This record gives sequence, C-alpha cells and structure tokens, in this order.
Amino acid sequence: MAFNVAIDGPAGAGKSTVAKEVAAKQNFIYVDTGAMYRAMALYFLREKIGPDDEAAIAAACPNVDITIAYEDGVQQVFLNGENVSGFLRTEEVGNMASATSGYVQVRKKLMELQKQLAKTADVVMDGRDIGTCVLPKADVKIYLTASSLVRARRRYKELAEKGISCVLEEIEKDIADRDCRDMHREHSPLVQAEDAVLIDSSDLTLKEVVEQIEAMIREKRSCR
Ligand code: C5P
Repeated sequence: MAFNVAIDGPAGAGKSTVAKEVAAKQNFIYVDTGAMYRAMALYFLREKIGPDDEAAIAAACPNVDITIAYEDGVQQVFLNGENVSGFLRTEEVGNMASATSGYVQVRKKLMELQKQLAKTADVVMDGRDIGTCVLPKADVKIYLTASSLVRARRRYKELAEKGISCVLEEIEKDIADRDCRDMHREHSPLVQAEDAVLIDSSDLTLKEVVEQIEAMIREKRSCR
C-alpha cells in the first residue's frame, strides 16, 4: 500500500519547500495541489470569467482538463494539454485560485485527481484540505504554520528574488485575506485535522522541520 504524507497549512508557511525536500529525501512523489487550483484559476482568468460568477465557473469546469506529469522529479501541470507550470506562481493567479477554490465543482474535479495520485504512489501532498478531506487516512499528517509576519517576509523574499517588486504590508494583507477565505469557506475549509501534528516553523530552520517530519515517517513505517 502506498505511503501518504499530508501537509496542510496557511499561505506562505513553507509547505512546498518542506514537502519537496521530504519527498526528495524519501524518494516519494511531491504533489503540489495548490498548483492544480492555480491552473484552474488561470483558465478562468484567460476566459475572463469573474471570481464571483459561480454559474459561469460551474459551466466552465467540464471544459477544463488538468493533468500532471513529472520531468526530472519536478511536477508539471497541464491545462487542456498545455504545460502551464510557468504561469502559475503570480499573485494574480494565486488570488484567483483562492477566490475560486471554494466552489464545490472546482474542488470535486481536483480532489478526484489527487486521490488517484496518492493511491498508486508514495506521496508527500501539500495543500489546505489534504489531511481532512483528500487523504483522511494519510500515514503522517502535518499542519505547518508560522506567524503571519514571518510568512509575509518569506513570500516577499521569494518575489524579490524573482525580481518582482512588492510591498511587505501589502503581501501581509494579501496573505491574511487568503487565509481568511480558505479558513471560512463552506467546502473543505483550511483547518488542522484532529490527528495532524502542528509544526510552527516561525523559529525553525528548513532542516529542523524536515527532520521532524522524517522522524515521524520512520516511526510510522516501523509499526506498519
Ligand atoms: O498553496 P497555493 O498558494 O499554491 O494555493 C493557491 C490557492 O489554492 C489557496 O489559496 C487555496 O485557496 C487553494 N487550495 C485549496 N486546497 C488545496 C490547495 C490549494 O483550496 N488543497
């Protein structure tokens, strides 16, 4: 049976960096579910569908085909056959993803794909509802968080490194708005699963977080 690690948490908590590292060290597949919501959002943006137009979003969902593949171990996301991986990490797409991920039609579509991926392969999957809805029986569940200022600073650095100019206060507000939407939506809100282990990475290094998770994987494996 495949071994599943679920990592959930708010925006900018470092989930993808941690998940990628754990996956590489354990030889697992890393599944970035946020990228799938972003690819759906990109489709809605390209089609000029507004984030509040639920009817248009529901009508568009059957026309969207999201698939993923791996190139040199790196996840590539395909939107109706086009590799859109390079277009997903902008603030515009992130905000659209946050605004449209609450719709049940969007979630249903992506959740099926995520469940299938985890059935057949050892995965580290990160997102908002992995431990609660997508993989409720995951072997290891983490809720990774950090203070909102630390998260904003990390996102700021990430954008600055890409040469994108930004204002720290605006990033912090953006993150707070996104968390609020993710935590208070009706379907699959962001919440710590009862059996998830909370890791606050505000004062931890990447190495320390990865080591904690690897220790949990080792322990779980030993009693499987
Ligand atoms: O993690 P990332 O910032 O790429 O996710 C973009 C948006 O996708 C999040 O703000 C959230 O609204 C949505 N998402 C979700 N469920 C997941 C992963 C992401 O609702 N499992």
